[in-house]
Amino acid sequence: MALTQEQKSFIEKVGKLAVADTLKSNVLASLTIAQAILESGWGESSLTINANALFGIKATNTWKGKVYNTKTKECYNGITFTTIDACFRAYDSWEESIADHSAFLTASRYAAVIGERDYKKACTAIKAAGYATDPDYSAKLIKIIEQYGLTQYDAAQAEKGNKMNIIQDFIPSGRKNRPGKANPMKYITIHNTGNTSKGAGAKNHATYVKGDAAANEPKSWHYTVDESCGYQHLPDNETAYHAGDGASGTGNTQSIGIEICMNSDGDILKATDNAAELTASLCKKHNIPVGNVKQHYDWTKKNCPQMIRSGKPYNWDAFINKVKGFMGISTAAASTPAPATPPAAFTPYTVKITADTLNIRKGAGTNYTTNGVIKDKGIYTIVEEATGTGATKWGRLKSGAGWISLDYTMKV
Ligand SMILES: [Zn+2]
Repeated sequence: MALTQEQKSFIEKVGKLAVADTLKSNVLASLTIAQAILESGWGESSLTINANALFGIKATNTWKGKVYNTKTKECYNGITFTTIDACFRAYDSWEESIADHSAFLTASRYAAVIGERDYKKACTAIKAAGYATDPDYSAKLIKIIEQYGLTQYDAAQAEKGNKMNIIQDFIPSGRKNRPGKANPMKYITIHNTGNTSKGAGAKNHATYVKGDAAANEPKSWHYTVDESCGYQHLPDNETAYHAGDGASGTGNTQSIGIEICMNSDGDILKATDNAAELTASLCKKHNIPVGNVKQHYDWTKKNCPQMIRSGKPYNWDAFINKVKGFMGISTAAASTPAPATPPAAFTPYTVKITADTLNIRKGAGTNYTTNGVIKDKGIYTIVEEATGTGATKWGRLKSGAGWISLDYTMKV
C-alpha cells in the first residue's frame, strides 16, 4: 500500500521527534511512531488537531497540564467497544506530546518497555502493562511498524547500544587485590583483557579475579565487559590494581578500570560498544569528564587497550565518540576541556612525507579503506599514534583526513 504524501510527512515529522526522544528516554522509536499513527489517526484526530496530543493519554487527577475532552472507544470486556467521554492530556506541541508519552512510560509497570529493542516484544510489553484496552492493540502496532518500515527509525538507538546487564560479583572484602581504599573516581581507564582464549568472556574474568592467582599478584579492576553482559568486581568508589602504576599511582588510585574482552569466540564490536555505553553511564553517574577517559597506555605506556589501539573494532577517537554519543553529547560540539592534570598527553609533531604517494586510510591499518592520497611529499602534523597492520606505526593527521603509515615519513 503506497503512502499518501500526508502519511509520508507525518512519519517523517514524528520519526524525527521520536528519534530525538529515544536517545533520552530509551523508548523504541518505531513503537512511539506506530502508537502515534494508530492513536492520532495519522494526525487527523480531533485530539491531535485541537490539543497536539499524538497519544490518547487520559488526564487523571495527577495531571497538572492542559486537558481536552473528547469521546473515545474503550473495550472493557475484551469483546465490545463502548464510546465514553474522556478527558485527555493536551499539549502545546507534538514534541511535548512525545516527551510526555515517554515520561508516562517511566512508570514502573512499563519497565519491560523501556530499553526493549525488539519491536515485537516492545509492542507486546506495552499492551501487557495495560496501556490500552483494545485486545488487538499489540498486533495493530506490529502491523503498522512492518507495513511502513518504521524499524529504520530504531537505528539511532541501535547505535546508542543495547541495554547491557551488569552483574555484581564482588571480590570478597579482605582479599589482597581488594585494598578497600577510597577511590575519588576522577578517571576511567580502558583496557583490553589481552586474553584471546575461547570462552574468556566477562564471567570467566569474574571467576579469575576472585581467585588466588589474581589476589597474589595483586590484580583487580572494576568491570569486565563482553558482547552480552558486564560483570562488576569492585564498587566504583574503591581502588584497584589494574593500571600498573603502583600502589599510589593515579591510574590505580583514582580511576575506575574497565576490561573489554577479546576472546576469539566473542564479538569484539559488540563488546567494545558495550564498554562505551558503560563508560558513558559511569561518566554521567560520577561526573567524570569525557576527557578523563584514559587508555591504560596513558598511565604506563603499556600497549593497552591493545585492540582499540590497533583500530579493532575501531580506534580510540571512535571509542570516545561512541561514549559521547551514549552521553548525548554531539561529537561536533564537544570539545572536552583538558583535565587539570593531563596524564601523559600526546604531543602532536610534524613529519615530512618521504614516499611519492602515500595512502590516507580511514583507520590505523592497511585493513582500512583509503580516504585519499598524499602526493606532495609535504609536511603534516600527527596528532595521535596507533599500531595496526601494514606499518610499524600509524599516525593520525591533524586535518582529520585519516591515518598514514609513519614508515614513509620523517620527523621534522
Ligand atoms: Zn590494561
